Order: sequence, then C-alpha cells, then structure tokens
Amino acid sequence: MQPDGEVTTTRASLELLYDISRELTAALDLSTVLRRVITLSMSNVGAVNGSIIVLDNSGDPIEGIINIGDRVIENAAKQLSETLNDGLAGWVIRNQSGVLIADTSQDERWLRRPDDHEKQTGPKSAVSVPLIVHQQLVGVMTLVHPSPNFFLPGHLELIQAIADQAGVAVLNARLFADSQRRARVMTALAESASVITASLDPDEVLQRILSQISEALRVETVFLALVDPQGENLKFAATSAGKDTDFTGLQTKIGEGFAGQVAQTGVGQIITDTAIHEDYSLEFERNIENKIRAIICAPLKSEGEIIGVLEALNPSEGKFDPDALEVLTGIGSLAGTAINHARLYEQVQTTEQRYHDLFQDSIDPILISDFEGNILEANRQAEIFTGLENQALLEKTIRQLLLSEEAIPGLDTGGLNLGDIHSIEAEFTSRDGSSIPIRLYVRSVDVKNYQWIIRDISERRRLDRLREDLISMIYHDLRSPLANIVSSLDVFDTMLPDDGDPAYRSLLNIALRSTERIQRLTNSLLDMSRLESGQPVVNLFPTSPILLAADSVEAVSPIATSKNQIINIKISADIPQVKIDVDMIRRVLINLLENAVKYSPPDGEITLGADIKAEQAIIWVQDSGPGIPAEENEHIFDKFTRLNPTGSQKGFGLGLAYCRLAIEGHSGRIWVDSEPGKGSRFSFTLPVEKD
Ligand code: ADP
Repeated sequence: MQPDGEVTTTRASLELLYDISRELTAALDLSTVLRRVITLSMSNVGAVNGSIIVLDNSGDPIEGIINIGDRVIENAAKQLSETLNDGLAGWVIRNQSGVLIADTSQDERWLRRPDDHEKQTGPKSAVSVPLIVHQQLVGVMTLVHPSPNFFLPGHLELIQAIADQAGVAVLNARLFADSQRRARVMTALAESASVITASLDPDEVLQRILSQISEALRVETVFLALVDPQGENLKFAATSAGKDTDFTGLQTKIGEGFAGQVAQTGVGQIITDTAIHEDYSLEFERNIENKIRAIICAPLKSEGEIIGVLEALNPSEGKFDPDALEVLTGIGSLAGTAINHARLYEQVQTTEQRYHDLFQDSIDPILISDFEGNILEANRQAEIFTGLENQALLEKTIRQLLLSEEAIPGLDTGGLNLGDIHSIEAEFTSRDGSSIPIRLYVRSVDVKNYQWIIRDISERRRLDRLREDLISMIYHDLRSPLANIVSSLDVFDTMLPDDGDPAYRSLLNIALRSTERIQRLTNSLLDMSRLESGQPVVNLFPTSPILLAADSVEAVSPIATSKNQIINIKISADIPQVKIDVDMIRRVLINLLENAVKYSPPDGEITLGADIKAEQAIIWVQDSGPGIPAEENEHIFDKFTRLNPTGSQKGFGLGLAYCRLAIEGHSGRIWVDSEPGKGSRFSFTLPVEKD
C-alpha cells in the first residue's frame, strides 16, 4: 500500500501534466507555445530564470526564448547558441538526457558568460532537459534558481515529464511554422511569376522583377546584373535605386567578390552583417548612398544556365526573414526564364521586321497567296508593277491577275511540295491594256501559303528575238558562199583529167563532202530557228522514200565504209510517195544515219527501212550500237542533250532536236525504241501523198 501523501502527490502531478498538455496543445504558433512552456515549467518548479532552444532536423537552433524574472526575450536563438555549443544545453543535447546541477559553481558543464560572474551572481542550481518526440530531438529547456541546491531530483523528474508534453507541442508548432513559411514563399513566388511573365518587353520585365523583389523582401534596393556574352563579367543591368546615381557600365568579374561568386557557383548567399564579412567586395553597391547592412544575392537561371544575379540590399525591417534567400532564389529562377523569353521575343520581332522589310523592299514584285490563289499580301513592287493599290490587290486572285495559257503550278497542278520552286511564262495585261511577258516563280512557303515572284521578261524576250534574227541572218548569208564553193568544186571535178593523179580527186572529194556537211548543218540551223518561231513547212513535194533513202545512204556511205560498216536498205518497191520538204527530211535521215554510224562498232550493221501503217509512212534506222536507256528516250530529243558528254564521240546535242522539229513540222512523230546492248531503232512518221 502506498502512503496517502504519495497518492496525493501523484494525483497532483497527473493533474498538472493534464493541465499542461491541454494548455500547450491549444496553441499552434511557435512563440506562444514557447512562452507557455517556459512560464508553466518555471512556475511549477519555482525557477527564476529559464530558456528553451528549438532545433531543426539537422540540429541547428531555429528559435529560442529566454525568461529572466519577469522579462521575456523572444527570437533568442542567436543569444543561446553559445550555451548550445559549450554550455549545459549542449551537454544535454549530446547525451540526450536531463541533468540536475545542484551548484553551478561546482560543475564545469555550466558555462559562465562574462555577465554571469560568480562575484556578481553567485552559485546557482539548474535543471536542463531535452525535448524529445519519437526519438527526435526538437529542443532543450533549462531552468535556473539563484540558490544552490534549490532543485531536487523530484524537480528534474517533473520537468522531464513537462518536457515530454512540451516536445510534442513544440514539434507541432515548428511544423506549423514551417508550413506557414512555405506557404508564404509559394505565395510570393506565385505572385511574382504572374506579374513578371505578364510582359514580353525586356526593359519592362527587368523593372517588374525589381519591383516584385522589393515588395516580396521589403528591401531598400535591388540590383540586377547579367552575365556578358563572353561569360567573363557580370554587367549591371537594372536597379530599383533612384535615378540620381548612374550605375551604367559597372561590372565585376565572374568568380570575384560576392556577386561574382554567386554567378560562378550558382548558389545564393546571404550576409546579415556586412561589417564582419571580409570577402564583401562589391562593385555595383559601392555607389549607393546608404550604408549596406545586409545583403542577399541569388543567381538568375534560365534552362539551368546562370545568366546573371539578383541582389537585395538592406531589409527595411532591419533583418531578412529566414526565408528571404529562398524567395530570392525562387524569383531568380523564374526571372531568368522571363528575361530569356523576353530577349527571344525581341529577337523574333527584329527578325520578323527584317524579313518584312526585305519583302517590302524587294526589287521584284512579290505576292503571297493561299493554296486557292487568293492574294493575301503584296509588296510595294507588286503595287507598282500591277498599278493596283494594296487593298485592290488583296481582293484579287492570282488567276485574275495573270493570263496564262499554261497550267499555273500549284493551282492547276495539284499542289507543290514545300521548298520546290516552279516557274512558268505568262502574260500580264497592264492597266493600259498592253501585254507584258513575265516569268512567274512559285513556291510553297509554309503549309498554307504560296509565294509568287514576278519577273518582267520583256527585255529578255526582245534580246532573244534580236539574237535569233541575227543567227538566222548569218545562216542565211552563209548559204550562197557555201553554194558557190560546192559549185566551184564540182567544176574543178569536171576539169580533172580522167587519167590524172587519183590523189587530186580524192582530196577534191573530201573538200566536197565537208562543204556539203557544213551546208547541211547551216541549213538545219536555219530551219530550226524558223520552225521554232512557228513558221510552217511550205515546200512540200511528193517524194519517193526509196530515192530519199538511197540519196541519204550515199551521203554517209564514205564514213560507214571507213568503219567497215554495212548499211542495208529495206524498203518494198511499191511504197507510196511521201509529201515532204525533201531537203529537210533528207537531212533528218542523214542525221539519224550519221548517229547510227557513229555509235555502231566497226564492222557493225545498219538498216534503213520504211513501212506503211495507218496511212502513214514509218521510216526507221536500226543500228547495232550500245542502245539508249529507257528513261532517256524522250530527253535525247531535247536541245543540247548528250548522254555521254565526256565520251570520245563529239557533237553538240543538236541533231536529234533538229529531227524532232523537222518531223513535227511535217505533222509527224519521231521516237526511239531501244534496249541497251541491242542497238537502237529511231523511227519517224511522214504523211503519204494521196492520189
Ligand atoms: P550529238 O550526236 O551531236 O551529240 P544528237 O542530238 O544527235 O547530238 O544526239 C544526242 C545524244 O543522243 C547523243 O549525244 C548520244 O548520247 C545519244 N544518241 C543519239 N543517237 C544514238 C544512237 N544511235 N545510239 C546511241 N546513242 C545515241
């Protein structure tokens, strides 16, 4: 059985603990909780002085309270840090157990501060207990009485019991303070983000950043400096300081001084007392009027890169909030992105302006249309060229603007691939009714639009005509001297004695044949320019294909003989006559035969044939040459096309082009059938003379 006295004491203690627990859990604010804990504890054991230190998860002091008699000092974490390092509180924390010191003068765990001299304050007694919740140390409470031996072991037990209750309340209050602090930081950041990102003008963005920081941190001055393009210096960019002082051009090397180090490491820094900080050497702030007391510097970051720093100086309430560095670092991250976006936007705008100027000032008329040809934009030259005002142009379509016999690429040809450039020649009817020849270039500039460039080709057309006329004149004028040479050579031939030196006759023959070749070539070129300008073939006479074939074969037989080649003629005797310009078609046949001889090997065989099909004569030349690849079958009839331009065979690529013009001038058709390695067969059709 317990004695009655002990039961009463236990009940009293339980009631006390219950009251304390109720009292403590009623508050959430850390400083109220600390006040209540210290007051309740002191009054319950009769202590005169007391203190509580609150620790964070890493054991650093974050809050403290001191109670000396009736005086309460809050936010005393800094004052208490000494006892935490070297004094009694430190011992309790390290050992995680409470301690009773009956006489502080006899115990070296008691740290004597200068103001606590034994002669003045004398020996005291003290209890100190850890505040532990779920094995986590959240603080330490120390109570003191000015008389030694005042505290007894029962007091230590009671204080420890109170401390166990208080620990939970302190931890809750600490967590609450932490979540409130987080909420404050998040709110400040969210507000800053919405204000800063609301503009895309670089100067305005900087000003917004400065004013947001001034507001969020309540500081006297804010500086913003940016890393220069070389990445060597931090250059002053903006300040919230008044306009009286000019900071332009101020800079500091990256890695040097306070701001320079932050720019190098990317880690924000805080100096709460500049007087005791030795590396404090700053460029920008030297010029500000007020003395610098405290300063925070955080990096400006964009896409993980440090693009500058932010500095906040002299908090108006004397010192920075504990979360000031975090707020500035957060603003630094979003501000860096905002600055970069504003810069990019400015660049895009400048580039767009440049392209717009290029478009407007281009020396060519340029139009932009949609895929249906509705004109969406027109530059100055387009207005001048068409004689229409911009608005009038925008109401038209490309088709209305241009007369084109050809299909307009993109509009009539089923769309264009992005980047491909197509062009056609067309006519533009100017406002005075005259027709201007133009070349129209079109390409698709994006997924929705076409760009049209108009080139006036009147001058080129005039020069082309001039050149063609000149060439025709030369060919024409060459004909009579050539004819004179041929007839003179013929006369010479008759004058040579039959029994004379055969070398003379052979030389004469070479001269005659070469001159005839030149004659054929000049005549073909003259025909080409006539046919190209649309002149019809008029000298049509009924002609026997057999005679035509014999005549042509005779012209090429000397070169065929020199290569030991045989030319067969395969034409039935009853073939009807064809209605042709004989000289023209003879040159076509000679051209085809010359090619056959040229491309067939020595000893090769060549056949010239003619058939009748669907009331048309088909004349053909089959060789035993290398053949022509199928994909070139059409192409070889184009001017200046040569399949093997570097090969041993010489030529200009004009022969087949002439053949096509001449045959089409006779309303016929020319083509080639060939299998590589098996020779080629060139065929053409001619109209048959009807009886
Ligand atoms: P040129 O013979 O003066 O080069 P052509 O217009 O007569 O010009 O011929 C164009 C090209 O066609 C020639 O360069 C040659 O590559 C090819 N070609 C013409 N005829 C034949 C043929 N019978 N066999 C093989 N290739 C030929």
